[in-house]
Amino acid sequence: MTDSLPTQQFASDNYAGICPEAWSAMEQANRGSATAYGEDAWTLRAADAFRDLFAADCDVYFVFNGTAANSLALAALCQSYHSVICSSSAHVETDECGAPEFFSNGSKLLVAQSKDGKLTPESIRALATGRSDIHFPKPRVVTITQPTETGQVYTRAEIAAISATCRELGLKLHMDGARFAHACATLGCTPAEITWQAGVDVLCFGGTKNGMAAGEAVIYFDRTLAEDFAYRCKQAGQLASKMRYLSGPWIGVLETGAWLANARHANACAQRLAAAVTDAKGLELIFPVEANAVFLAAPEAVLDGLRARGWRFYTFIGGGARFMFAWDADPAQVDRLASDCIVLARESALVPA
Ligand SMILES: *Cc1c(COP(=O)(O)O)cnc(C)c1O
Repeated sequence: MTDSLPTQQFASDNYAGICPEAWSAMEQANRGSATAYGEDAWTLRAADAFRDLFAADCDVYFVFNGTAANSLALAALCQSYHSVICSSSAHVETDECGAPEFFSNGSKLLVAQSKDGKLTPESIRALATGRSDIHFPKPRVVTITQPTETGQVYTRAEIAAISATCRELGLKLHMDGARFAHACATLGCTPAEITWQAGVDVLCFGGTKNGMAAGEAVIYFDRTLAEDFAYRCKQAGQLASKMRYLSGPWIGVLETGAWLANARHANACAQRLAAAVTDAKGLELIFPVEANAVFLAAPEAVLDGLRARGWRFYTFIGGGARFMFAWDADPAQVDRLASDCIVLARESALVPA
């Protein structure tokens, strides 16, 4: 074993470590003993920090990861004969191994085809009203991802229009906010403005991709929807006995403002890469860069060349190479990646196809 640090990669924003604010809060929570199962002062303070951040008397639950947060939140809104409207690239559809269906005892996901992962009032209405007979699972919830899996951000107006459609059709609105902080950073709005003030009923606020070791917060703006949610968490193996280590880091990132600063930095690094490659021949941005993701289309030779130079990236989401930036992304390393992309694209353009 060597102790040398591996070169920073941008294949996933989950490659990053723990930010200093979360780490220090964890360290403070580690001094002495505390009550178990969320009955401790850290957990109370973290929940209060969320109520301050959202300027709302919301109900807050801490779970280990995003799959659990989304699945349990959706399950709480559904009976087994209900259905959930989502986009074709939604994490709940493509990356949760059927957990939303499993935890809801069979609620079906109704999928709207969408290139950038966004739902619209029209696509929701089409799925919600296409069938109303007893043979089809009854539409009950809409879930939107903010920002989407390909890094697009819903505006306040878009969310408000979706929620108006939901109210009209008797649907609840859930938001997968695995990168919620990044959307707030992009829009320059308060967390309240794009959640409860725009009609969102439940938000899964991601901590892991925002600089924490683990943990997402499930936030109910309508407390009546959270009835028995604590039991659901416990049954699903999501009730941490030493809850302070799951909740404490939130105090660190929320009270210091690191949640937003981390997201701003990550977004800025995505913009840095996008700006560097945008005019390069042979390279193309597949999606508008609105958060911390860059999806790059390039000839196979360029992608192979990047791999040969040691860069890691995924190509199974959105097509092309995906690069994700985290709170700790090093701008000099972003510049190295940009320069390799440009040099390889230039070389590949010189080789006859
Ligand atoms: C990462 C992510 C999640 C959570 O994934 P886990 O691995 O279960 O923590 C949820 N939604 C989206 C859009 C994500 O990118």
